[in-house]
Amino acid sequence: MNKANHRISARLAAWLVAVAIVAMPIASLAQTQISYHSNKYKPSDDVKLGRQAAAEAEQQFPLLRDSQVQSYVESVGQRLVAAIPPEFQHPEFRYYFRVINASDINAFALPGGPMYVNRGMIQAAHNEGEMAGVMAHELSHVALRHGTAQATKAQKYGLLAGILGIGGTILGGPGLGQLAQGSVGVYFLKFSREYETEADLLGARIMANAGYDPRDLANMFQTIERQGGGGGGFMSDHPSPSNRYARINQEAQSLRIANVPHDNREFLAVNERLRSYPRAQTMAEIQRSGRRYPNQGDTYPNGDRTGYPNYPSGRIDYPSSQYRSYNEFGIVRVSIPDNWRELSDSGNSVWFAPSGGYGSANGQVVYTHGVNFGVAQTRSRNLQQATDEFLSSLQQGNGNLRSRSGYQRTYINGRNALSIGLSNVNEATGRNEIVSVVTTQLRNGELFYMIAVAPDNDYNNYQSVFQNVLRSVQLND
Ligand SMILES: [Zn+2]
Repeated sequence: MNKANHRISARLAAWLVAVAIVAMPIASLAQTQISYHSNKYKPSDDVKLGRQAAAEAEQQFPLLRDSQVQSYVESVGQRLVAAIPPEFQHPEFRYYFRVINASDINAFALPGGPMYVNRGMIQAAHNEGEMAGVMAHELSHVALRHGTAQATKAQKYGLLAGILGIGGTILGGPGLGQLAQGSVGVYFLKFSREYETEADLLGARIMANAGYDPRDLANMFQTIERQGGGGGGFMSDHPSPSNRYARINQEAQSLRIANVPHDNREFLAVNERLRSYPRAQTMAEIQRSGRRYPNQGDTYPNGDRTGYPNYPSGRIDYPSSQYRSYNEFGIVRVSIPDNWRELSDSGNSVWFAPSGGYGSANGQVVYTHGVNFGVAQTRSRNLQQATDEFLSSLQQGNGNLRSRSGYQRTYINGRNALSIGLSNVNEATGRNEIVSVVTTQLRNGELFYMIAVAPDNDYNNYQSVFQNVLRSVQLND
């Protein structure tokens, strides 16, 4: 069974150079001049570095799976990208925008273009302009190539041993700052005040070019401050320029706002959707949970994929007879062998699999052994028709999936359920495998499912484990 994915290239070597510089404050009503810092890297290095860090980031943080929200943020982002002044455009860069389901009022961008906007930031903004302001600030760090400029500088002073990825956050603070201590390898550097000021000034210019009032960027910093930094520690150790608000507003006086009409209708609609979701965790909580999100499997604009690095090894320890209990989606409790890992692939699907029983192959995450639980939206409220729909969506992602039998009636936690056996050819190993699917309906009409998978010749060894897991399911919806 698979979901989409990718592989991570080798560690990046050490890098280095000299420092030139910067922002020359000129007379008060002229635009402040901004120039690039000394940088020993090529723009294509920014792209490479950013892509690798993005793959790591997407394993650490859950993306919000909502195409309406996602495409809205992408469209605002691309409008800003088009408004980057020509001298700061880089044809190699690939800007794209994703929403992380985290509550911190934060956003970060990676060299070469990937940008991640927290759900909490969208919800804290008062209007589209404030949201766009944060994005324009982040975009400016990327366009000014601050990540690699900072790496250049740090290496000059021998500070950068072993850094894998470089990002910049709007706020810094404990959320992302502490990631640097994680073993995983996404390192978010804090930028200097000088870089922050440059990103504010270029951000204001991008805003004006895109038809937004640059003062919305200043307002957003006040919004963030008023909300205590959204738990991200805005006031703590972030090198925030002291007169940031005044400085942006001053710069705004020298900028002409392009005549591009905007309204807040889409912004408000998106916020209404976001309010309907369960509370998001903070990035620190997500990090503490130790959960990984290997299956997000999005495709980059160039066709590469992000995701999990290991090929399934096929070397699997026998399932432990000790079980551990998990709560999922706020409605299900289930017991799983305690030597299996929990692997989330989105807000509404989770895998449990033994080490060696999952990994990446041909750009996809593939499971050879394990169970998957999830909640699916279907058009039909009839269990069998809903299950038909669900199976055909599974078949779209697994071309070799065939049913071996018809439906059988069974129960999940005392509720009527259907089970069906399917065969598949594993995408990584090429071995035949058995896939069992059991479905029942939740009270709100959504379809709850469990999928169990094991190779043909190993299935008997796992059948009792799968049955134990299924019997342990408690639904509380
Ligand atoms: Zn910044």
